[in-house]
Amino acid sequence: MIILRNIKVPYDKDEKFLSGEIAKKLNKRDFNYKIYKKSLDARHEINFVYQVIVDLDLADIDKKIIKRLKNNIEEFHEDKLEVENINKIKSAVIIGTGPAGLFAAYLLAKKGVKVTLIERGKKVEDRLRDIDTLHETGKLDENSNVQFGEGGAGTFSDGKLTSRSKDKRVSHVFEIFVKNGAPEDILYEQKPHIGTDILRNVIKNIRQDIERKGAIYKFSEKLIDFEICNGKINKIITDKGEYSADCYILAIGNSARDTFVMLDKYDLIEQKPFAVGFRIEHLRKNIDKAQYGMISEKLPSATYQLNITDKEEAHSVYTFCMCPGGYVVNSSSIKSQLCVNGMSYHDRKGENSNSAVVATIDKKIYGEGNLAGMNFQNEIEKKAYKMGGGLAPVQRVKDFMENRATEKLGEVLPTFKPGYVFADLNEIYPESINHAIKNALKLMNRRVHGFCSDDAILTGVETRTSSPIRIVRENYRSEKLKNLFPIGEGAGYSGGIISSALDGLKCAMEILEGEKEC
Ligand code: FAD
Repeated sequence: MIILRNIKVPYDKDEKFLSGEIAKKLNKRDFNYKIYKKSLDARHEINFVYQVIVDLDLADIDKKIIKRLKNNIEEFHEDKLEVENINKIKSAVIIGTGPAGLFAAYLLAKKGVKVTLIERGKKVEDRLRDIDTLHETGKLDENSNVQFGEGGAGTFSDGKLTSRSKDKRVSHVFEIFVKNGAPEDILYEQKPHIGTDILRNVIKNIRQDIERKGAIYKFSEKLIDFEICNGKINKIITDKGEYSADCYILAIGNSARDTFVMLDKYDLIEQKPFAVGFRIEHLRKNIDKAQYGMISEKLPSATYQLNITDKEEAHSVYTFCMCPGGYVVNSSSIKSQLCVNGMSYHDRKGENSNSAVVATIDKKIYGEGNLAGMNFQNEIEKKAYKMGGGLAPVQRVKDFMENRATEKLGEVLPTFKPGYVFADLNEIYPESINHAIKNALKLMNRRVHGFCSDDAILTGVETRTSSPIRIVRENYRSEKLKNLFPIGEGAGYSGGIISSALDGLKCAMEILEGEKEC
């Protein structure tokens, strides 16, 4: 098989055009191909740029053609996930069914390990009902919400599957998603995306797949303590029982604050920097126009990623978790506290696009102590809740810039449910954060025109961009408890669905084949 790169297809042409281009480049007529990568180049003319795998050998291609195509053609070798249970691990308990826990469970169960998954939240079908109630009434279930429940924090998200990882094993994460119902294009799109509507079913299918491999799920059950003996966990204690296993995987996400307190008791954690800010909403059509110079149904809803580092400011500011055609959602897991995030459906056709605009913070803002960052998050979320009285505090960008509460909306309408109140968001954060965000908003608008038009809306607050703690580990093992494997975003080693899933997969490989300590 060969891989052929850099095949340009105008955005308004279909796949027939692509096969025609391949035929022209190789001077061949009879071949099969599959798309390997697809990206969008909107710098000058708007083209999709493809890499394809063709079922021909280099020996079948004219040497002059190979010379002309230079680096754009070469032999292709498929990467296989080959792993065995060399350490003869019999059992594992996994706490948390977000991407990190699920993908660790998937591989361990596949290799014959008896896996038990403990999840404080509910299965995805029941969780959906609780989140619908939250959107309709504002009534929060502290164990079944946007953060907690089957599939973890990303289940009610945009389902963006981007990752900066160069690790080839990422492809196995995508294959497992597709095998369980995700659209095939995630295997090759440069910016793959599922959407919450499809992701929920994928998570359910992964559960059924893992159960067929012999694993057991325990929903609505929370890890509350460990029993420790000679530097190892003897058993874990939940609010419903106790479990012993050869190894324990802690995949609890970035919001398990009560569990962080328990881990601190055993001196397993340290603080780490993270970022806080607001969610910004603007009209999708304005972002499309800014990014493509035009609006076309043949183009995907446009994305952006913006970073501002200004030496005059105390904080770097960046956009995060951009949701084209998406909605702002309540992502709190604690009553009388509020934080927000973004979500979108597969078609990404909502009226607004949104993203987090967040400023980096460290102990200069929240002080010393392993849990200082987490305590700061709590304080901010309480302020936001109080300001909104159960609804979301929102402000037009122009009013935020001019330090006055909004009185009237313009062309952008907030999407947060069940509703919003006008507020002055300047009252939430320390002044250095407000200052850095204001400066960045102006500069960001120069890069994506319309990003912060006067009428763009800020909603408070974005506090859970990543974990405020790190669970210290070396080669996937806790430094202090050798049969404990802290993984994923909560442990501070990944950010996002794909990197968390990959962390889970790699941890399972380490347990099966790495140095045996369990
Ligand atoms: P989590 O997914 O947080 O899973 C942790 C699980 O552990 C949870 O299910 C929780 O209930 C459970 N748990 C916690 N404590 C306990 C306990 N004591 N006992 C038992 N169970 C426990 N990332 C992207 O890449 N793309 C996106 O589009 C995207 N959008 C997002 C939108 C929203 C609204 C949110 C909240 C996040 C989004 N993210 C997105 C981030 C992404 O969801 C996380 O990076 C990812 O889910 C982290 O995976 P994880 O497995 O480490 O932890």
